[in-house]
Amino acid sequence: MTKIPHRIGILTSGGDAPGMNAAIRAVVRSALYYDMEVYGIRDGYLGMKRNEVEPLDAGSVGDIIHRGGTFLGTARLPEFATDREVREVCYSTLREHGIEGLVVCGGDGSYRGANLLQKETGIPTVGLPGTIDNDLGYTDFTIGFDTAVNTCVDNINKLRDTMASHGRVSVVEVMGRNCGDIAVHSGIAAGAEAILVPEIHKTDNQWLDYIVRKLRVSFGRGKKYGIIVMAEGINMTPKMHHFTADYIASWLNANADAVGHRVDARGCVIGHVQRGGSPTASDRILAARMGEAAVDVLREGKTNLCVGIRRNRIITTPIDEAVEMKNHVDKHLIALADILAR
Ligand code: ADP
Repeated sequence: MTKIPHRIGILTSGGDAPGMNAAIRAVVRSALYYDMEVYGIRDGYLGMKRNEVEPLDAGSVGDIIHRGGTFLGTARLPEFATDREVREVCYSTLREHGIEGLVVCGGDGSYRGANLLQKETGIPTVGLPGTIDNDLGYTDFTIGFDTAVNTCVDNINKLRDTMASHGRVSVVEVMGRNCGDIAVHSGIAAGAEAILVPEIHKTDNQWLDYIVRKLRVSFGRGKKYGIIVMAEGINMTPKMHHFTADYIASWLNANADAVGHRVDARGCVIGHVQRGGSPTASDRILAARMGEAAVDVLREGKTNLCVGIRRNRIITTPIDEAVEMKNHVDKHLIALADILAR
């Protein structure tokens, strides 16, 4: 147990994610409900270093629940991990403003920062999983993931219209870094023929065989177009850098014989639009539940925990453990996608 903080800080850090604003709002309003004070720290650990801190009241988080991004801003400050002097500057900001507890919304890097901060200052910290990638193994879902999946599905729906009109194949690359969850979820929701994820280890030729097999099946039953969804993590290793959506599309165009059908394939990288947009209702509700839970952690005198959700129940996990847990893509969902694309 640590001292129960009266004045807490909140920051968003690392990559932004839709729903971060809803999370900030939930933290601020829950804390105010319990007569705590909240200070917003701009631009993650960078704003902490620059002493960019402001008090937040109920009104300052009004009209943000539906907005993508984070109104506090986010940034990266790599020196926070490596340079004690930089961290001391950051800590002096917290001391100057009398901040006695800290909520950090971000990914595993931001969590590691929160852990270190607590160990060096004694200020209790709690993490909220703000990342579209869904790559934190301790939680079923992260804030922003559902919105990113919906953005992918919207985009693939639009591609599907034109692919269907022209009888084309779209190879669509989606985000997620080393986690294939965005690809699997958007691939299933969009009815993709094939889904490529980094958790399944195949060589480039093995992936091409797989795609050809899947296209042969769907062309064989009379489908006139195809959707292939690949996670960006597929080509993040040096050996696979060449294996882009465009590369796969060109290969298919040059190897129509293997597919046994006329092929007119195009590559498409959805890109950073996946990180933006108004958060879905699911992400807003997740952010609300998790934000309240983060305040509870601090109110209960606990620290170094991160908030998650498992089987629709809010849970907390020690940050030390959480950052070591790898997310495992749901192999059953991949098998299901396979069955449904026959
Ligand atoms: P994310 O939180 O989305 O994983 P990053 O990995 O870029 O994003 O981390 C965000 C910030 O968290 C970094 O710029 C740095 O300030 C801090 N951070 C990252 N890793 C560590 C670490 N090992 N120790 C302390 N702070 C870290």
